[in-house]
Amino acid sequence: MISFDEARERILGKAPATRNEQVALHDALGRVLAEDVRARRDAPPWDNTAVDGYAVRAADTVGATPARPVTLRVLETVAAGAMASRPVGPGEAIRIMTGAPMPPGADAVVMVEDTQGAGECVTILQAAGTADNVRPRGEDVRAGDVVLGPGLTLRPGHLGMAAQLGRSQMMVTRRPTVGILSTGDELVEIDESPSDEKILNVNSHALAAQVLEAGAIPVRLGIAKDTPEAIRAGIRAGLDCDVLLISGGVSMGDFDFVKPVMDELGGGLEFWKVRIKPARPLAFGMIGGVPTFGLPGNPVSSMVSFELFVRPFLRRAMGHRAIHRPTVQARLTEPVRKKAGRRFFLRAVLERDEHGPTCRTTGPQGSGMLTSMMLADALMDLPDAWDGPLPVGHVVTLHIL
Ligand code: AMP
Ligand code: MG
Repeated sequence: MISFDEARERILGKAPATRNEQVALHDALGRVLAEDVRARRDAPPWDNTAVDGYAVRAADTVGATPARPVTLRVLETVAAGAMASRPVGPGEAIRIMTGAPMPPGADAVVMVEDTQGAGECVTILQAAGTADNVRPRGEDVRAGDVVLGPGLTLRPGHLGMAAQLGRSQMMVTRRPTVGILSTGDELVEIDESPSDEKILNVNSHALAAQVLEAGAIPVRLGIAKDTPEAIRAGIRAGLDCDVLLISGGVSMGDFDFVKPVMDELGGGLEFWKVRIKPARPLAFGMIGGVPTFGLPGNPVSSMVSFELFVRPFLRRAMGHRAIHRPTVQARLTEPVRKKAGRRFFLRAVLERDEHGPTCRTTGPQGSGMLTSMMLADALMDLPDAWDGPLPVGHVVTLHIL
């Protein structure tokens, strides 16, 4: 049996190189950028006004107050999207709207709230300093700058910037397709009515949701019976996918044929069993070049092993800079049972008191109890060597889900 760290390292070592595709800007949200995006021109492209008001020569307004205002002659009005037709000379002003380019000769804008009158003349009630209310050319971005770079996970702010740079398409990494095969004679699909001895195929749906949340594309391959032939056929149906997940049939039961079939197909088995709880009987290998995960069948084990191994693998394959969940240290508010030997990943609730983050388990941790997954907002990571019970106040690491 190998350690968690070794298992994860070996799995990540098999992550395929990223592949790229061009997508429309509005489809790029959440995707990983795969190119340098350069600014072709300065943004803003010219000095412009930050307010509605009057473009003036600051020197003309020196000393202006409501008691001793200064009056200037208004030459014209410039809306955003237009240019002034003439420069501002001494004693002159141009009425100007937010975003419009600064007229030549003017070096400040007095906002309309600090003026009086309209038409031919304007009364300035407040002195302006040089560059007041002026947004200088290139203050946001300079022509030639690489503004966005490879590996960036695109958020709305990035897409807004890309739009500002005139990009309607972006080169991003491809989302891998992930085949999901459930195994088990006892399984029926959730829209069938189960007879007494049957149970519903939960894992296909929980795993599909995890695949989607990780940014990849789930392909549900249905249920395979617990025979080597059925499992082989199910695997073959999934070899068009970039990654294959098989749930169930990977333990030591009389009808657990996933591991022997993985062993036999292309000799692909890399390892089987990891010193963790839950999800010990994890199998991983390459089948026909397709990275294949044999996940334990218990719904919680299958979800936790996805979280610990498959999610970082998919994120690496998509070129994310950060492939792991963020972690936080928190103090236990309830004692926790732990035996040395395996690394535990308990489903946990993250809370906070006046001294900082605290946590407790979600309650019963049975690997068939989906409530533990449903209530969890973190996985509590307890190292192999720790021997419990761990007392209240003990500090543990949480992986935030
Ligand atoms: P296995 O790993 O095949 O021995 O399965 C362990 C437990 O998980 C058994 O109780 C199975 O019935 C259950 N199980 C396996 N696959 C699924 C599934 N797709 N949905 C829900 N439960 C499952
Ligand atoms: Mg089974």
